[in-house]
Amino acid sequence: MRVKSIDRLKDSVKGTVLINEPMSRHTSFHIGGPAEVFCIPADDEDIKNIILWARRNRLPVTPIGNGTNLLVSDNGIEGVTIKIADRFSGVFFDEDFALVKAGTAVKSVINAAMERGLGGMEFAWGIPGAIGGSIAMNAGTNSHFLSKFVRKARVIDLNGKEYRLLHDELKFDYRHSILQEEPLILLDVQFELEEKDPGEVKKNIKEAAEKRKGRQPIEYPCAGSVFKNPPTTYAGKVLEEADCKGLRVGDAMISELHANFIINLGHATASDVLKLIRIAQERVYRKKDLILDLEVKLVGKFNLDLLMKKK
Ligand SMILES: Cc1cc2nc3c(=O)[nH]c(=O)nc-3n(C[C@H](O)[C@H](O)[C@H](O)COP(=O)(O)OP(=O)(O)OC[C@H]3O[C@@H](n4cnc5c(N)ncnc54)[C@H](O)[C@@H]3O)c2cc1C
Repeated sequence: MRVKSIDRLKDSVKGTVLINEPMSRHTSFHIGGPAEVFCIPADDEDIKNIILWARRNRLPVTPIGNGTNLLVSDNGIEGVTIKIADRFSGVFFDEDFALVKAGTAVKSVINAAMERGLGGMEFAWGIPGAIGGSIAMNAGTNSHFLSKFVRKARVIDLNGKEYRLLHDELKFDYRHSILQEEPLILLDVQFELEEKDPGEVKKNIKEAAEKRKGRQPIEYPCAGSVFKNPPTTYAGKVLEEADCKGLRVGDAMISELHANFIINLGHATASDVLKLIRIAQERVYRKKDLILDLEVKLVGKFNLDLLMKKK
């Protein structure tokens, strides 16, 4: 990459621009090689300038949030990675809705709403993502999704053009939204929350935190659920029944606590994790005649032939 061109990008952005930034610093797995160009934008204008610079230089663009649902390749990420996280955050209330910037942490939205006498999203307490990543993934629990509260969203495409998408246009489904189909970056979202007594919100938060306690191996680096739940059962259950708990490749291990979590015992690589995913898929297929789909997002170059896919 030409130094002159990078200098031009640095001059046009108020936020941070780094070269060959290790992605292990930006993923909850603590895994991932270098991002060729890594940007932390400070505002909308920064995002637009980064996108236009990438387009001029014919480079791919990858948005990330808190990196809590990502497995990044050991070879890193080509092109431009844009981290939309705490540097790009804020919650602004109008009468009956909350406008939330994409980098805001999920728990900050729940806290800010509680202070305004609003609630509803407490089920998501403990999800460590930012709002952009969480809307892209339509994060939630088995029975509640964040999409329920989304009225509309503002996105930008890779030509730098902004759009407003209404709830239905966001194509929400289980762990899915249009942001996984189209090259769009979420800038902010309008949530319609419920009027709720702060005492009740606090109680719900406590209950949600209790439910997670002791059920997820959060003391280890991980990326949440590795596989999506099949339509009629839970991925964790079938993985456990296929004796996957404790399986290990290098420093990547299927948690003894929750079979749908892979943990990094210290020096796991993305390649270790992918091999372990394949072994788990095979075991489940043999025992249950079921192919588990990935929930974790693979970013960068991988040998995808390793994975089992539904026909
Ligand atoms: C301990 C632990 C517990 C978890 N528990 C849950 C849970 O209960 N429920 C659940 O659903 N998930 C859970 N997760 C997974 C993860 O936290 C969620 O999917 C989260 O919402 C992802 O947000 P993120 O900011 O980390 O996104 P990332 O992991 O950074 O990105 C996820 C996807 O979103 C895209 N993306 C990110 N930002 C944007 C943007 N601004 N515009 C467009 N696309 C974007 C990325 O390209 C990527 O495809 C858990 C993870 C961990 C580590």
